[in-house]
Amino acid sequence: MPQAPQRTATEMQLVNGSAGDPLLFVDYPARDDALLFDAGENGNLSAGRLADLAAVFLSHHHVDHLVGFDRILRANLDRDKDLHVVGPEGTIDRISARVRTYDYPFFPFQKLRLHLTEVRANELRSAVLEWGAKLPEPEISARSLAPKDLTPTVFENGLLRVEAARVDHTAPCLAFAIVETPGFHVDGQALREGPLRPGGWVSRALAMLREGQADETPVEIDGGLFPLGRLRDRYFRKTRGARIAYVVDTLWGDASRPALMELCRRATRLYCDSFYAQADLKKAKTHKHMTATQAAELARDAQVEHLTLIHFSNRYSGRYSELGAEAAAIFPNTSADLDQGASQAPPGPARRRRREG
Ligand SMILES: [Zn+2]
Ligand SMILES: [Zn+2]
Repeated sequence: MPQAPQRTATEMQLVNGSAGDPLLFVDYPARDDALLFDAGENGNLSAGRLADLAAVFLSHHHVDHLVGFDRILRANLDRDKDLHVVGPEGTIDRISARVRTYDYPFFPFQKLRLHLTEVRANELRSAVLEWGAKLPEPEISARSLAPKDLTPTVFENGLLRVEAARVDHTAPCLAFAIVETPGFHVDGQALREGPLRPGGWVSRALAMLREGQADETPVEIDGGLFPLGRLRDRYFRKTRGARIAYVVDTLWGDASRPALMELCRRATRLYCDSFYAQADLKKAKTHKHMTATQAAELARDAQVEHLTLIHFSNRYSGRYSELGAEAAAIFPNTSADLDQGASQAPPGPARRRRREG
């Protein structure tokens, strides 16, 4: 049986399973702190959960990775908040154009600030789209990257940073990794099991623990007082922090290998493109995707703890488990989520249609 990986996020959900559009939702205890990897079909995420996002990371601009962006925008539009969107070359132009497709009434409470960042070969470009200022043309600023920096940091808060690596697909494309900072983190599993309900106290207690406050310091929760030490023992753990890597749509070859190895090294969990079976290696090369075998080789060589296969081509519909078996023969701690994926596949003849996203 594959081991359960170390989990510190309060929620880590492969929203459409291994066979639907790749979509990874990672939540932490505070408000507006969730992270979403890719913006494909996201009907399985409520507007409420999309409104909790701090950042969206776009691997690339193919439709199966971007078609859900409008729902993300809508869920956050009526807010006074910062939402980060990080993607490859072209992200600032494409997202700006997408956002300008609509007419806005510009209500005074709509103060969303969309921070756009695109990762290029030698620089990070940034721009801000501001609803409070009625969406003026964004000013673009650039920060150069050291040529040796294969995995630049593209987002950070006090608890984690996100690294990006440029990969080799038929369009400019990125892979990402969440790197949690060592120290106290929420034990997501313990929090779900209760009995205290998650709320604002979780981030308050976490900040107090990280400041090194005394065990007996009282923490107020729903009108009651709880000693910090008791909360720590039950709901928090001091860990080196998880590394969660998300890799989609890339050829596994000399152009992508060095950055991917660095991005995935000793990851707690790797979500990895397995669009093709190794028997279809030729197609994988043509459409620049990975095979299940190559995903397992990356997991093994980068010494990750757990591999989850994602982005199965629906040409394997009805025999997805073969892709899992192919990878598990090389890297035993492999899993795939076929339940969600099955319900995502279109019914009838469309099911046989082939996507080369
Ligand atoms: Zn794709
Ligand atoms: Zn693609």
